[in-house]
Amino acid sequence: MIPKNKDPEYLYLHVPFCESICYYCDFCHVVYHAGMAEKWLDAVSYELEQRHVNRELKTIYIGGGTPTSLSAAELEKLLCLLDPYRAQVREYTVEVNPGTLDDEKADILKRHGVNRVSVGMQSGNDELLKTIGRKHTFEDVRNCIGILRKAGICSFSLDIMYGLPGQTMQDLDETLADALSLEPGHLSLYSLTIPENTVFARRGVQPADEDLEADMYEHIVSVLTGRGYEHYEISNFALPGCRSLHNQAYWRYDDFYGIGAGASGKENHVRYDHPSSLKAYIEDPMRTDDTPLTLNDEMFENLMMSLRMREGLDMRQFQERYGVSFEQVFGTKAQRWIDEKYLIYENQHVRCTEKGMEILNTVLADMMDEVQ
Ligand code: SF4
Repeated sequence: MIPKNKDPEYLYLHVPFCESICYYCDFCHVVYHAGMAEKWLDAVSYELEQRHVNRELKTIYIGGGTPTSLSAAELEKLLCLLDPYRAQVREYTVEVNPGTLDDEKADILKRHGVNRVSVGMQSGNDELLKTIGRKHTFEDVRNCIGILRKAGICSFSLDIMYGLPGQTMQDLDETLADALSLEPGHLSLYSLTIPENTVFARRGVQPADEDLEADMYEHIVSVLTGRGYEHYEISNFALPGCRSLHNQAYWRYDDFYGIGAGASGKENHVRYDHPSSLKAYIEDPMRTDDTPLTLNDEMFENLMMSLRMREGLDMRQFQERYGVSFEQVFGTKAQRWIDEKYLIYENQHVRCTEKGMEILNTVLADMMDEVQ
């Protein structure tokens, strides 16, 4: 019998509105519409109450979509809804798209305790930004950071994409230099993927060549670690003291609330997914697709998420959570990967080596056999 988990201490809230739709994006989003935003806010208010959200949250993360596509009044209303839950919050992040933040909105964020912002920079090259359907320029990114700093929000992360259509190594290098010129504490870098139902998929755009993408990844790691950033997760880099507490909760496989259309959460051995339809969410904010997680599901998913981090999986926590040791469940397979220097045991953790990170999916596919 799996013991009941304590209430989640982490909350993700999804804002489904964007000012326009980027060509590669299949996130849950609709073009901003004031009437819908009002109804959506009522639905969020209802969900927060019905879910009896823990008032001692450690992190709040408002993502999207584009949270700052809401009007100043709507943004304030949303943050007021979250005020009762933020007394203990150490990290309060809001995603921002350049060009959608002004002094008024930045002051609202600051007043409601937001202390970290994730900025969708994507590239420093204005032509490439246009190619992928972004409506901002690099100058807008620079202005956005200026507005944040003026409002007193100095902790920020930049999202950057690589493997863009036609992008060269030199373009990437210039983007990294542009990003570093803004002195971010944190950077997230993702290669372009082209999911179905995107403008790019309809246009038949192909992802970058695998070898070029691998070279780009290596280059990113080398440049950023050379500038003092810790490569603490496959796609994430932080200066000392600037790691994302919220994202680390996902990778450590902690429970978290998922609020809003298109959001997913995990509470007490159940994963739930809200419908991505905004209309369906407004009609019934508590309607979710629920997936009960078995002990085997949880043990494997915990491993899968934690191996993404440089520190790896905490084996003491694994034993506490599941009542069985990591070695008992995965030990035989793990030993083979350790012998070949893809995994390593260190400080009560099992983690990937540098070359293990490069073939993480292969390692995981092999370990999965142990829990099927
Ligand atoms: S990438 Fe971000 S801003 Fe662009 S459409 Fe998707 S959610 Fe909206």
